[in-house]
Amino acid sequence: MDQKIKDLLEKVKVTATTAAEAAGKAADAASKKAGELASVTKLNLQIFDLNTDIELLFKEIGKSVYLTHTGAEIEAEEIDGKITQIDEKYAKIAELKECIANRKTTCRCPNCGRECDKSDSFCSACGTQL
Ligand SMILES: [Zn+2]
Repeated sequence: MDQKIKDLLEKVKVTATTAAEAAGKAADAASKKAGELASVTKLNLQIFDLNTDIELLFKEIGKSVYLTHTGAEIEAEEIDGKITQIDEKYAKIAELKECIANRKTTCRCPNCGRECDKSDSFCSACGTQL
């Protein structure tokens, strides 16, 4: 591997950990705002958009690494910034997926714990009224 690329990746590796921690905190704050009322369709759309953004960031990082190889001076911070954005977006996706999971149409029977459909009046296992 190109020595310049090696150096760059080494710098990125060192700072990426702290960036990931910061991203986690940012995601925590953002998750509070994650619309409780948003529909599952809307949430899935948001996940799709985030994945598209992440793909773009991956491409940009790849290009930066290549440009380093051609002799361009790429700041490690520039790549760190993109890695942080990816971390944030992944955290957001996890948040949205959790949101969707919480919106399942099932509920647990208070008596036996069996997973029942929310539209059921009685538990299919023990007959407890739901
Ligand atoms: Zn039951």
